[in-house]
Amino acid sequence: MEKKLTPEVISAYYEKKFPVERFMAFIGLSNFKNREFGFVVGEHNRFVRNISFQNTEKMLEFMVKNSVKDAYVGAVFDTPPSKEHPIQKIKWNYREFIYDIDIDEYDLVRTCGCQGAQYCKECWSLVQDATVFIDKTMREDFGFHDIIWIFSGRRGVHGWVRNPIIQKFDKNQRVAILDYLTFIHDEKRSQSIDEIPNESKPLRNRIYALTAKSYLEKITPKKLHEFGISVNKAKDIIKQVQNSDDFDHTKYNILIPNDSAVRKKLSSEIILRRYPRIDRKVTMDTNRVSRMPYSIHGKTGQIAIEIKDIKNFYPDSAPTVWEALM
Ligand SMILES: [Zn+2]
Repeated sequence: MEKKLTPEVISAYYEKKFPVERFMAFIGLSNFKNREFGFVVGEHNRFVRNISFQNTEKMLEFMVKNSVKDAYVGAVFDTPPSKEHPIQKIKWNYREFIYDIDIDEYDLVRTCGCQGAQYCKECWSLVQDATVFIDKTMREDFGFHDIIWIFSGRRGVHGWVRNPIIQKFDKNQRVAILDYLTFIHDEKRSQSIDEIPNESKPLRNRIYALTAKSYLEKITPKKLHEFGISVNKAKDIIKQVQNSDDFDHTKYNILIPNDSAVRKKLSSEIILRRYPRIDRKVTMDTNRVSRMPYSIHGKTGQIAIEIKDIKNFYPDSAPTVWEALM
């Protein structure tokens, strides 16, 4: 049954249940008053930004009084953003590095029948795999260990990388990290695929251990046969991958026939079907505001909670504002 997200429900949540200490710990206590906020307010869903607050009491007061439908948090500047001092006119200071993974980015390759904001257990595994892949890459290849994953409130997740060094990164530095991770170009149209690289070994091994494994253990023998592998061999490959705890590049090379055409076609298909699809605009834009952790999603009424264990997280299991108020 669809419940209505009324102004009363929203205000009650921010007045009584919003975990303000956890939110403050999340964005850091220093420079709070120089942080930009944005909100969707009023009957006509007006989006307002260039807002800042002296302290958390003032912030909550605003959110309760205006029954904000959606709440967003942005970068830190050298002076408090306001109508008189909009962010374009003040000096940017820092901003968390944010990944946005949405299930609808996979529309061209989803085979379950879901489109847009729809999701099911089958296609949600793409978001789960992408999260694990990116999390590991940031930790192991770049050494950024302060990463928190937040449910977007609807159909995706946001990864907040909070190490002080990366928060100072400008657009070009952020793009360089994205480029390292990118293998699918023009994701919504041509989807041209780069070959799996040999030079970056950690990344290459991760593609086999996570992406290739996930693809091969979910595929049917019939589908694998289309790559020029006999049905019996295909059955054997799938069984071996499913039973392998430490699948990697070497095992892939042992299992997949040593025919360069087969290997090339298959590896492109693996990247196309299961490799992470990141909304680059979100990560690149250092001024963008992102959904406030622990706030309410205005369309679903779900809370943007922290995800501790992505492998066991499914959007339906996230709490709603009505549950929070019970
Ligand atoms: Zn689906």
